[in-house]
Amino acid sequence: MTRHADIRTSPKLSGISYSLRGPLAAQAERMRAAGKDVLALNLGDPAAYGLPTDPEVVRAVRDNLDRACGYSAAQGLPAAREAVARHYRAKGLGTVRPRDVYLGNGVSELAALSLHALLGPGDEILVPAPDYPMWTASAVLAGGSPVHYRCDEASAWFPDPADIARRTTDRTRALLVINPNNPTGAVWPPEILDALAEVARRHGLVLLADEIYADFLYDGTPHTPLATRAPDVPCLTFGGLSKRGRIPGYRVGWLALTGCPARDNALTSALDTLVSLRLCPSVPAQHAVEAALRADDTTALTAPGGELRRRRDHLCRLLDDLPGVRTVKPHGAFYAFPGIDRGRYRLGDDASLADELLCEVGLLVVPGSGLGPVPSGHLRVVTLPPTEILTEAVTRLTRFLDRRTRASAGCG
Ligand code: PLP
Repeated sequence: MTRHADIRTSPKLSGISYSLRGPLAAQAERMRAAGKDVLALNLGDPAAYGLPTDPEVVRAVRDNLDRACGYSAAQGLPAAREAVARHYRAKGLGTVRPRDVYLGNGVSELAALSLHALLGPGDEILVPAPDYPMWTASAVLAGGSPVHYRCDEASAWFPDPADIARRTTDRTRALLVINPNNPTGAVWPPEILDALAEVARRHGLVLLADEIYADFLYDGTPHTPLATRAPDVPCLTFGGLSKRGRIPGYRVGWLALTGCPARDNALTSALDTLVSLRLCPSVPAQHAVEAALRADDTTALTAPGGELRRRRDHLCRLLDDLPGVRTVKPHGAFYAFPGIDRGRYRLGDDASLADELLCEVGLLVVPGSGLGPVPSGHLRVVTLPPTEILTEAVTRLTRFLDRRTRASAGCG
């Protein structure tokens, strides 16, 4: 009989972690179960913070449940793909047709499939640092090697195209852009996107554009889809309804392929094989797509006076008032990525900082070190909760830092 201790797991998993739902989140769960008060600001789930979807979207799913029992086409329902193609054509991606669109159980599934399609052993993919860690982990699981390029806090968390070009080798296959960015909230402007597209063009790379936050923009900041700046470069643009539709639990995402003029190419046939292996995405959830793309209700949340805009402003104001804490104002998405002056507060690395914040004041945030190689002292905090929760979170952070100040004064 096989005993637990005899089960060997795949070496592919060594070094793989997902800081957003890792040991710290598990510890928070245990603390909650033990009756402790924990404030969780670690997950980018709009529904969890009382930002519900349009009822029409839920109705579209409910009304189609009887018709959603069988498998759909592997690429997804034609009507849903048509809605995504229309959405991107309206954004300037003129060539997108339903056949260029693949639906999936969230961007997460399609990211993994795409990386399996693109990367062989030792192949490299350029990934922003900090990044949304699903990408780094999925690249490793696909057998590739993520190579992180630096986004600089001093330059509003924009990347330096020259740094990216320097890290490009003859093993590099793809360049990932997350824009608007998780965790920094930076929205990269067209000049930067042009320079990145040029790196891809020069080195024959495939562009991957994770634009799941494209609808969450503040202060009049425009979003430029990367594919519009590189119509001649193969580009996979990722989006979905976890953020825009505020239905992450339904698991709906898509990718749109541009820059590959003929349908008959190696990339599409790899994607076709991989999506057919998973049979199809959840069919009930696909019925949300048309309705959610019709409902253009995120602007009302992010415009002046909108609920998300108020929450972001509130959190940034509170963080700016904390001595020794600096935050580049996020112009997109729904995260802030403050840096704390470790010397001033005599803090350890940010993993222990996040751990101590949870244990000492019941505040769950994501340490910057869980988001790739970033200068120490950063934390990712969601801007989604109502203002009173954000106030309580910063009150706890303040209490924690005050204690550190007193302790270091006591030590002389
Ligand atoms: N990409 C980014 C940048 C994200 O922040 C997230 C989730 O937070 C995802 C992808 C995952 O999206 P999905 O729920 O569609 O799998």
